[in-house]
Parts: sequence; structure tokens; C-alpha cells
Amino acid sequence: MYLIVAEKNISAHRIAQILAGGHNLVEKKDAGVSAYSFDDTTTVGLRGHVVEVDFEPGYENWRSEKYTPRSLIDAHTIKVPTEKRIVALLQKLARQADRVTIATDFDTEGELIGKEAYELVRAVNNKVKIDRARFSAITPQEIRSAFANTTDLDFALAAAGEARQSIDLMWGASLTRFISLAAKRGGNNILSVGRVQSPTLSMIVDREKEIEKFVPEKYWQLGLVTEKTGEPVEARHTNGRFKDQKVAELARDRTREPLVVTEVREGTKQDRSPSPFDTTTYIVAAARLGFSAANAMRIAEELYMNGYISYPRTDNTVYPASLDLNGVLATIRNSPFKKDVEWIIAHRRTEPTRGKKSSTDHPPIYPTGVATREGIGDDAFRIYELVLRRFLATLAPDALWQTIKVNFDAGGETYTTTGGRLLEPGWHTVYPFSEAKETILPAFVTGERLPIRKVNLDEKETLPPARYTQSKLIQRMEELGLGTKSTRHEVIARLVSRKYIEGNPLRPTLVGRVVTEALEQNADTITKPEMTQTIESHMQQIKENKRTRDDVIAESRSMLHKAFDQLEANELVIGNDIRDRTAEELNLGRCPACGGTLAIKHMRGSTQFIGCSRYPECTFNIGLPATQWGWAVRTDDVCDKHHLHYVRLVRKGARPWDIGCPLCHHISSNAESLTEIPSMDEALLEKARSRHIYTVAEIARSEPDSLAKTLDLPLEKAQKLKGEAGEVLGKLRRRSECRKFMRNHLIPRKGRSYAKIMDTLRQVGVTDLAGLARASPTTLQQAGIGESEARDLLAEARITYNGQLLKGTGIPAVSLKKYMVAGVAGPEDFLALGPENLAQLTGMSSGTVNRHVALVCGYLHRPIPVTVPKPKLAKGRKELLSVKGLTATTADKLMRAGIINGDLLVAADAKKLAAATGIDEEKIRAYQAMMKKKQDTAIIRI
Ligand SMILES: [Zn+2]
Ligand SMILES: [Zn+2]
Repeated sequence: MYLIVAEKNISAHRIAQILAGGHNLVEKKDAGVSAYSFDDTTTVGLRGHVVEVDFEPGYENWRSEKYTPRSLIDAHTIKVPTEKRIVALLQKLARQADRVTIATDFDTEGELIGKEAYELVRAVNNKVKIDRARFSAITPQEIRSAFANTTDLDFALAAAGEARQSIDLMWGASLTRFISLAAKRGGNNILSVGRVQSPTLSMIVDREKEIEKFVPEKYWQLGLVTEKTGEPVEARHTNGRFKDQKVAELARDRTREPLVVTEVREGTKQDRSPSPFDTTTYIVAAARLGFSAANAMRIAEELYMNGYISYPRTDNTVYPASLDLNGVLATIRNSPFKKDVEWIIAHRRTEPTRGKKSSTDHPPIYPTGVATREGIGDDAFRIYELVLRRFLATLAPDALWQTIKVNFDAGGETYTTTGGRLLEPGWHTVYPFSEAKETILPAFVTGERLPIRKVNLDEKETLPPARYTQSKLIQRMEELGLGTKSTRHEVIARLVSRKYIEGNPLRPTLVGRVVTEALEQNADTITKPEMTQTIESHMQQIKENKRTRDDVIAESRSMLHKAFDQLEANELVIGNDIRDRTAEELNLGRCPACGGTLAIKHMRGSTQFIGCSRYPECTFNIGLPATQWGWAVRTDDVCDKHHLHYVRLVRKGARPWDIGCPLCHHISSNAESLTEIPSMDEALLEKARSRHIYTVAEIARSEPDSLAKTLDLPLEKAQKLKGEAGEVLGKLRRRSECRKFMRNHLIPRKGRSYAKIMDTLRQVGVTDLAGLARASPTTLQQAGIGESEARDLLAEARITYNGQLLKGTGIPAVSLKKYMVAGVAGPEDFLALGPENLAQLTGMSSGTVNRHVALVCGYLHRPIPVTVPKPKLAKGRKELLSVKGLTATTADKLMRAGIINGDLLVAADAKKLAAATGIDEEKIRAYQAMMKKKQDTAIIRI
């Protein structure tokens, strides 16, 4: 069998389709992983890396004394499968193979993925012949030629990839641990540091500092407006920027009519066609169309794997001689851009344009297939069009501009204006994405005298350097040799997800800045691009077989050890510095209750809230949604009324949720529930707020006397208020439980909101699960729920509600489950069926079932059914009466409440039992204790 290993499932499928030609292609799935077969050939796709490099066991514990952050530098690494099912299938097929071709992507990363596959194959089959197919586009022509000319795996290239992997792991893991531990951060809060990431972040921080340090300078610009054949024409003073206001004003005052044309200079300017796309220029062009770098790369990769464009990770801006440009034109002639392709065929330049970078691995990005908008969707089609038009533009003739420069004199002051007209549009015909604009001037003649309609002197200020946009940053990273064409956009995305940078253009967050500055001051090799550049040049040397992987890794280790010498010496300073400065970012302002500091607190798990620095003396706090809804951060906005910073919840891949002033939000979101307390009138509400009581729960939880004091109420009234608040709180809890139930059981649908449904239901009195269980299907339909959906929802509600009731009876969960499975929906059902049937349905013993029946009877305050055998009842009664002081009347009361023997008495909830029987709770507790003691001694006797 001939086995072909591709980088992804989708490329495995396409390669199989191409190589199968007209033969029958069969897809087979093994544990969910597809393989494609024809004749004696099978293709299988990986998922990029299917193994991962990690430290050997022992290094997981961050706080280990033995395995310090520094020890990670020299730690041994192992390869662990991450895609076990793919690895299993690959090895299963490899055992049967007599030839294997690795057909992963053609670059360093692809070579490394290929080598991983090679090792997996060799591990199970040490004789099979393994070769490598290299291609830059998944098109029939490229694929057939690559498989007809297979070569060997490039182990030097793969070794460069491996070295990068090891070095990145070593730097990232050891430094991240060191900094996080120094700053006493863990969990979600770790401070990540990385070989490429940190110098990139440092560039953004440096730019921000330049902007802050920037002192704007004033300058003045002088211009005038004249008129020719009824058209206004603007001209500017030849002095450009005036630094001195007086000089500018003097020039303005001297400017007077007539405006004399002193010179008209005409010329032409060549406007060269753009050069072919490499990854960076492609990302920049896609950014102009509104695509983020990560998005642009994701779409391009999809287009590549589907055979629409060539491999998008490339540093090359020169078409190789082997690329059949005529063939490409012939292919895309069938695309929706036929007219443009034909225009190029008719007007083609002799040689395509070329950029400055020529490399041998991949050609620049060019279209390889025909896509339609309907076939691939809007966004992908816009990217396809961009790549296709760029390709056409590189074959199009240069454009030609006519340029005109007109000089004027006005009372000795000189002015000038320029215009441009596109004489030959050339490449602009097929590439509308550039910003070339025509400025057409009327015809002027030397010596001509013109009027002056207006003279403008504008005061302006110099501007600070601009923040980086994503595409600008990628360009700069490339210039500095930071990262590779494949990783740059990922590094930026990681900085955003680590909350080190935000916005577009990019700004550092406070944490991003603090971490960068701490590293810069203590071990600047980590934040300077030089170290990363050195490592990149070492990678190149490995590829060229001039150095070995181990040699390069060893050198990197010693660089990192040097950095650790500095870092460990300053550990305390670094840690304190980061802690002090980042604490500030969570402070929101003064606590309204006590004047302490309110701050966002992130707890273990997903809890976050706003609390006071004087806790526990001050318990003022504001709840926040759990971190699944977003990580709470403060923004620069401050509430006018409460002087608190606004709060925002940020979540990866989602629009941030702006809460605004947390106190305003707290007050408004609790306003409605507070007014549900019957004795809460407007005046009392006002008073409560002025004493910083904002929620029903606070009132329900406070002690009546302290509540009376705080709100200047008589104790009686405070007691009443507290009681009412307790009831409202219960209602609120039940309501939110009902809302949660709806959310879990109603499928989200466009145009329908849970809040709206709950609102309509509330109007007819359905506010909780009990009400819902009793509701009719029509009621639900009126609230906008479909007929069959309403029926299902009601059934679910009844099961859930009755299940809760049953649970309230005290039946253990294991038995409860058996009843539910048997279809017993609630306490009423339970009694209606009777113990015999229940025992049969569930397979439990009748003794157990009887005990449960007694529990349910007690819960519903019903007499115990006679199905309990009389002798048993008599025995139980005797047992109860054996307790000292328990009278016959009490025993009967207990029996009626379902407590028919000593066991049940011990197991009962004293409070509930007191309510059901009217016996004093304390007394019940005493009986329970005595019964327990009796039973215990009985057990010991046995
Ligand atoms: Zn406080
Ligand atoms: Zn406010």
C-alpha cells in the first residue's frame, strides 16, 4: 500500500482527488479520522502538529523547590501525542505501507510536522521507504509534478524548526514562571513572557512612551484661494511651515493682488505597477479592506487548502522562472474577473514586476483556481479578488501621470499649487485598491493675473508619532527580524489575549507596560530584538547545515542563564514593583460606605466582585457576573456622580461588555426588586440608598436592631422590613431559577428574548418553576413559545419541579433517581402508585419503598397509607414510646406526620417536623438525641 501523509484533512482529501484522476475515491473513517483511498493508494491528513514538546514529568508544579523556574532551562523535553486518534490511524496505516510520501506544507513548520510524521511511521515500520513531496499550490499541475519528483525529507530544515520549538518553550516557560512567581500571580493571572512576544510588546510600550513624552509645537500655514474660469483653486505659500507667528503674519499681510502666474511646469511621472504579494504586503493590503491580520491569514489558508490561491506564508516577492504565468492567466480567465484577465492578456507588460526579496521555497501569493462569491462566501471572495487583482496588476503596464506645478507671486510672496491627471491608467485599471487620486487643475498661462478670493493663516500643532496598527506592527516586526511570516500575526493575537495590549491602533495596558518595564530594567536582553535576531540567524545556519540543532540550543541556554543571573538577583524588587503598580489597575475609587478603596477582586474559580479595602470592618461590595462573561477591568472613564472608574468585562473573541459605573449599575439593577418590598416607600428607599443599602439581600441579612439604627426606624418596623425582604429574596431566587430553567430548555432563536418571555409570563402570574409547572400550554403560547415546544417545556418543568419536591422529602438521591427513571414525576404520583407498584417498578425492596412512602406522607402532611403492615406500625409506635418523656399523644402526632419508627425520627429535619406536627422543635431535638443514643447502645450490644 502507498501511504500519503498531508498536513490537514482537507488537503489530504484534495490531493487524493487530484491523484485519483478518474478512479473511484473511497473515504473511510477510523475513530472519526478520515482516510481517502483509490487503487493501492491511501491519503491521510494530520492536524498540523500531532505531537507536542513538553518537559518531562516533575516540572508541572510551579512552586516546587527542586524544579525552580531556572531549572526549566536545562530540563529534558519529551514529545507527547496531542492528537491520539490521528496518531493511531497513521501508525496503523504505516504498518501496512510499502511506501510513504510526506506531503505537508512546504516551509520550516511543514518540514517539522513532516519529520514528526516520519518518526511516528518509523516507530512502527523501520523498513518502509519514506520520501517527501513539495508543492506551493494544491492544483492538479503542481500536485502531479510534486509527486512525480519526490525528494528526501530535509532534516536540516526540520532541525531548525525543532530548535525554534525547544528554545521558545524554554524561554517562555522559565521566564513566565519566574515573573509570575515573583509577582505572586497564578491561575488566570499569570504574566506570560516570550522570546518574540516580549520584544514586540516592548515596541508598543516604547511607542506609547514617545507619545506621552511628545510636546506638540505650534506652526502656521499660509494659503490662498484664487479663481480660474469660475473654479476655486487653492495654493500654498512656498515657505511651508512657519515656525514664527510674526513672520507668518507679515507674509500674510504682504500678500496682495494681483496674483501673477510666474511659471507653469508640466511633466509626466511613471507610476510603477505593484510587486507580487508576500505575506506581509498581503496582510497590509487586506488590512486596508478591513481584515485583521489573524483573519486575513485564516482566510488565505482556507483558500490555499481549497486550491484557490498558492501557499500564503511566503517571503518571496519575485515570481520564479518555473511559474507558468500564461497557465495562471488561462485558469483565472474562467473566473468572475474574465474581462480584467482579458484586458491584461491584451496589454501585458513584457516582464512581471519584481520585489526586493527573492527566496527559493515558495513563489509569491497568486491565484491558482476559480472561485465564485456563491461558492466561498463574501469575505473569502473579497480576499480571493484581492489576490487575483494583485496578480493581474503585477502583469499590467505602469501607469502614467501628467503632473502640473504652477508658481505664483502675490506682492512678493510666492505661492504654489500642483495637480495630477492620470494619462494612462495602466495597472489601476485592474487594481482599484490603491489610493491614487487625480487633482485636475485648469490651464494656467505664465504672466496671467488672477484675483485673490481669500488668504488663510492656520495655526496648527505637530502631531505625536502614530500608534501601531496591526499591519504596521507586522511590517516593523519583519524589518527587525522578529518572528516569522507564519508566527507574527499569532504573536499579536497572543498579546491581546494576555491583556497586554488593546484597541486598534494598539495600546499597551498597564500590566503590559509594567511587565515590560520590569524586564527592561533588570534583564533587557529579553525585551530587545537583538537576541531574537541572533536566534533567527542561528536557525538559518542550521538550515544550511553550518551548525547543529543541539549546538544552537546550548548557546540559547547560556543566553538565558545570563538573563536569569540578573533576574534572580533582583527578584524581590521586580516582584514588588509589578505588584505595586498593577494593584492600581484594579482600584475603582473611594468606597461610598467608609471612604476606603473599592477594587475589583478576582477570586479562585470564576468569581469576581468589587470589594472594599477595609474589609472586614466594611462589608460594602458589588457583585459582578462570573468570569465566563468576561474578565472585569477598569476603564479610564469615571462616573461624575460617584467618582468611580467604569468597569468593562473583556472576553477573548467577543465584544467587551461595558458595565459603566459599577455603583450606578448596581443601583439601577436592584431598584425594581427593592420596590417589591411592601413597606419600602420612596422616602425609605431614598434613605436606604443614602446609608449605602442597595439590595434586598442586604436588608434580609441585617440584624433588626442594626437595621433600625441605620434607617432610623422603630424596631418593630425594622423587623417587618427584614421579614418582607426575606420573602422578596425567596421570590427573586425562585424567579432567577425559573429564568435559568428557561434558558436551559428553550433553544435560542433570533428575535426572541428570555426577558420578554418572562415578562409576559409574569403578567399572568407565572414567576417561578412552581407556577410554570401549573401553567397551561396556551399561556406559554401567548408568551411566544411554539405549540410543541410549549408542551415539551411544560413536561420538563413538571419533572424538574416535582423532582425538587421529592428531593425535599428527604429521599436519598440514589433512590430518587430510580423513581424518576421509573416515571414517578412527583409526590402525588408517588402516593397514587402505592408501595407495591413502586417496589415493582424500581426493583427496590418493599421495606425501603415503605420508608420512602412514609417520608413523602410526612412531607405532604398526609396519613400514612394502610399498606404499612399493622404489626410494623405497632412495633414502631412502641419504639417511639420507649423514649423517656414521649407521650402517646406525641407518638400519634409523629405517626401522622410519617415518623413511624425510631430510624425515621432520627433522620427527620427537626424544624420541618416541628412545623408539621406542632411539637416544640427543642423537644423534637431532645427526642432525636435520646433515640440516637438508644440505637447506638443497641448496636454496641450486638
Ligand atoms: Zn468600605
Ligand atoms: Zn455612578
